[in-house]
Order: sequence, then structure tokens, then C-alpha cells
Amino acid sequence: MSAARRFVNAAVNNADMHCHSTVSDGLLSPAEVVRRAHGNGVDLLALTDHDEVGGLVEARRTADELGMAFVDGVEVSVSWGDDTTVHIVALNIDTDNPGLVGGLAQVRSGRDSRAMEMAAELAKVGIHGAYEGALRYAGNPALISRAHFARHIAEQGLVRDVKSVFDHWLAKGKPGYVEHSWATLEQALGWIRGAGGVAVLAHPGRFRLSGKELRSLLGEFKEQGGAAIEVLSGAHSTQQVNEFTRLAREFQFAASRASDFHGPGESWIDLGRLPPLPDRLTPVWQLFL
Ligand code: AMP
Ligand code: MN
Ligand code: MN
Ligand code: MN
Repeated sequence: MSAARRFVNAAVNNADMHCHSTVSDGLLSPAEVVRRAHGNGVDLLALTDHDEVGGLVEARRTADELGMAFVDGVEVSVSWGDDTTVHIVALNIDTDNPGLVGGLAQVRSGRDSRAMEMAAELAKVGIHGAYEGALRYAGNPALISRAHFARHIAEQGLVRDVKSVFDHWLAKGKPGYVEHSWATLEQALGWIRGAGGVAVLAHPGRFRLSGKELRSLLGEFKEQGGAAIEVLSGAHSTQQVNEFTRLAREFQFAASRASDFHGPGESWIDLGRLPPLPDRLTPVWQLFL
């Protein structure tokens, strides 16, 4: 696909810079995601599937048909510190950049064996056949994620919903969680920089870090070229929005508005439904408008 783009029309009222399609662990196809965003009034959308850019051609074509501004994105899985997984959203990337393409392929390559390990651990607590079940949801073993396990296990009727499956079996410290090495922060930021993209720390309120660890992550991220953090995320409480507003100002990060929509009924918030960014923050899209 094309190189990173610049936009001429800078009037953005409803940006959503983070969401997923069936190309990773979302429930809607890339075209359906774009049509839903447009229907919800979004005027600048980024599709950011986990570790994969395969949905962007279809998404962009659909956005072009609708006359909606669209940004190529991806959410990169990163291992930071001793054992913390963090996510970095890359926006306005050149999706043909060989360093980025190769790096993402490397990150995806561990997913299948990790899924088999997860299934072995789940079998020990009486949940059998989880790999096969999750794969039915994922379609592609290179994209299999905990979200696919969660859908399969929820379907068995053991608990009431996908979130409860995480609480019982898949969250860190639960029986089906296995440690995994994703990209390093340095690698991810190198790939994103090389592809001309803007690096955004995704949903910082979701990482279970102490205040000290969080500041150390923000410092390293900044030092290595990270440009923005998700101040508004579907996963953030009002208190967390206030906290990350302060931190964005202090560290001089631009701010993103990011639903992290995965599908109807399975997400904190729908596409384009977050409140406006707080005052005195630089919207991340100003970095590439
Ligand atoms: P993975 O990349 O395989 O570790 O899967 C991470 C994905 O699982 C996230 O992107 C979310 O889609 C989903 N997820 C993680 N934690 C939760 C949770 N507590 N509730 C619902 N979905 C979650
Ligand atoms: Mn996800
Ligand atoms: Mn994420
Ligand atoms: Mn996400």
C-alpha cells in the first residue's frame, strides 16, 4: 500500500484512533467497522488490529467510498520490564515498510505456540479442547488471542460473559495465563519510526503498574520517540482520564482518543462515543494532519 499520508482537511470533530476487526480479535470485518464508525459520526478513524496490517486496504477503500478520513494503524504487543505486557498503537504508518512488516510477522509468530501452552494449562483445570475452540473463532493460528479463548469458553456457558472468562482463567495470574515474550519497546518503536508512524501508548490505565513503574515506562517511551498516550480510552475511568491528562501535560505527550472497540456487546464503548479530549492537550492527529 501507499506511504504514510498527510491530510489537508484539519477539521476533526470526532476522531477514533484505536479499534479492531476480524483481522485480529474484533467481531466485525474491516468494512463493517468503518461503516459503523461513519454511522456513529466518526470523521477520522484508525483501524489498529493487533500485530497485523491485513485489514487496512479494505478499511481504507470503505472509508474512501464514504468520504471519511482514515489512518493506517496497528497495535503492537510489547514486553516491558520483567513481565509486563504493554501495547503501542502505531498511527499513520507506511504499511509496506519492510522493517515494520518483518517485525510484526516476528511478533505474530509466537501466538500459535503460546495458544497451545494456554490450552495445556486450561486442560489442567478441567477446560478441555480450548485450543481447537479458540482457533474456530480466530480462523488464523497466527492471530489467535486470549479474546478468542474467552469467546469459546464463554460459549460453553461456564460463566456469563467474556469479561468473566478473563477474571477466572485468562488474566495475569489466572490458570490459563502463560508468560510470553513479545517485541521489546525498543524494537517496536524502531519499527514504527522506520515506517514514518506516530507511536502512542495504548490504554496506560490498564497496565497494572505502580506509580513509579508507570513513570519509568512513560520516561522510556518518551526517550525512545514515543509521541502520545491514550488519555481517553474505552478502558479508562474518569479518574484515570484525569490522571493521564496530567501526565500527558507533564511529559509533553500528545493525547489520543481511542475507543478500543472490538465489537457490539463486547466493548467498553462504541466507536466515536468517547467525550472530547480535555483542554490544553495536543490531539495526536495534529501530528499528522
Ligand atoms: P492477547 O494479545 O492474546 O494477550 O489478548 C489480549 C486481548 O484480550 C486484548 O486486546 C483484549 O481484546 C482482550 N482482553 C484482555 N483483557 C481483557 C479483559 N479483562 N476483558 C475483556 N477482554 C480482555
Ligand atoms: Mn484485543
Ligand atoms: Mn490493547
Ligand atoms: Mn486494542
